[in-house]
Amino acid sequence: MKYVSTRGGEAVSLDQAIAAGIAKDGGLFVPDPVPAFALKDFEDATTIHEVAQVLLGPFFEGSALAPHLGAIIGETFSFPIPLTKLSVATGDLHMLELFHGPTAAFKDIGAGFLAACLSRLQRDQSVPLTILVATSGDTGGAVAAAFNERPGMRVVVLFPEGRVSQRQARQLTCWGDNVLSLAVHGSFDDCQALVKEAMANADLNARHRFSSANSINIGRLLPQCTYYAHASLARYRESGQKPSFIVPTGNLGNGLALMLCKQMGLPVADVILATNENRVIGDYLEEGEWLPTESKPTLASAMDVGNPSNMERVLALFGDAASLHRLIRAVSVSDQHIEEEIREGNTDFGFAICPHTATACHVYRHLSDEERRMKNWIVVATAHPAKFEQIVEPLTGHLLDLPDSLRAILDRPVHSVSIGPDLASFEMALEDRFGLDARSSAGDK
Ligand SMILES: *Cc1c(COP(=O)(O)O)cnc(C)c1O
Repeated sequence: MKYVSTRGGEAVSLDQAIAAGIAKDGGLFVPDPVPAFALKDFEDATTIHEVAQVLLGPFFEGSALAPHLGAIIGETFSFPIPLTKLSVATGDLHMLELFHGPTAAFKDIGAGFLAACLSRLQRDQSVPLTILVATSGDTGGAVAAAFNERPGMRVVVLFPEGRVSQRQARQLTCWGDNVLSLAVHGSFDDCQALVKEAMANADLNARHRFSSANSINIGRLLPQCTYYAHASLARYRESGQKPSFIVPTGNLGNGLALMLCKQMGLPVADVILATNENRVIGDYLEEGEWLPTESKPTLASAMDVGNPSNMERVLALFGDAASLHRLIRAVSVSDQHIEEEIREGNTDFGFAICPHTATACHVYRHLSDEERRMKNWIVVATAHPAKFEQIVEPLTGHLLDLPDSLRAILDRPVHSVSIGPDLASFEMALEDRFGLDARSSAGDK
């Protein structure tokens, strides 16, 4: 299997694509060809590990990681990913709970898989690899947790100062060891732009061996296909009907994984992307013109993205607005509706949901009665509500229990460095912490 740049410049192996993160021409790597599956390929696959082995096998063909795939899958899918049946008045609804990992958000899965791959690729290198990650909230914590204390690896987390929840901020700044947390005066898009600029800087790159762990890394995307394959097969086997999914969407990594599953032949019916008021994807589907903008702060802050990077992959793999229109829908949900949904969802489902998950639940609730009845639906739950207790608790009137994993993280001491949104500030903070000569501390844990 080879991986080609969305800008056409390069074809590399999986190992190179994972190690580089982004192509030399600035494009994103996509698999070429996208594998195709028949349902009978999964005949003997029931558990998520078995499904992952079948699904990911072709993507690892020719990779030095291929013999380790089983172990990588085992390390990544080490916590449950339940598909829970919900009781609702009309129709058939399940919730795919992606938030039972170490930082209680779905990004633990992609980050864990990427860390498991990269740490194996990195084994023979003397200079540490520095993972740069721009985060609007959840990515950074997940990546730091996944890479923390892995030998030969460093992590630099960049987050928009004051724009993440208190608990998120703690999760971004509690690692120490090989993790540097930078609070950037700016938006998530500024953080993302800074990562791109640093990676494109040959001089800095030579000293620090940068790699990315944002959802642009193909090593994040592939494992995300696994839970959609597993859930769709499970529902299809139970009901004889292909399930339809509603995915809370920001940078479009999670949604793209689902689109890929459908394309590869997994039993997926409709794909609906639920966004917050950052509605650039919906506008594109309606107007046919791609107009990325500044991101706008909302209650579903991990989805505050004005220029979703994975759109470049979507366009390369699925064509223009007209062809996308046949494949997906996108619905934008206002903050007011998010609040309403957290309140009503709590009453209807009997448990609290996070603001991101609320966008998907709201979209479900506002489908036509007929659509709710005729199709079988899966809403995707992307984070544990206790991560956003300041939003959720006042709306439901109940205090939320912290999952054990989060409790452990929130007890750790925190440390971060504030910087301006420019490369010079970034460079200074980086070299202050890790030294000018990356080699001098190659023996760091
Ligand atoms: C990142 C995130 C999303 C959006 O996922 P994308 O892959 O960026 O579209 C949704 N919900 C939560 C809780 C997240 O952390």
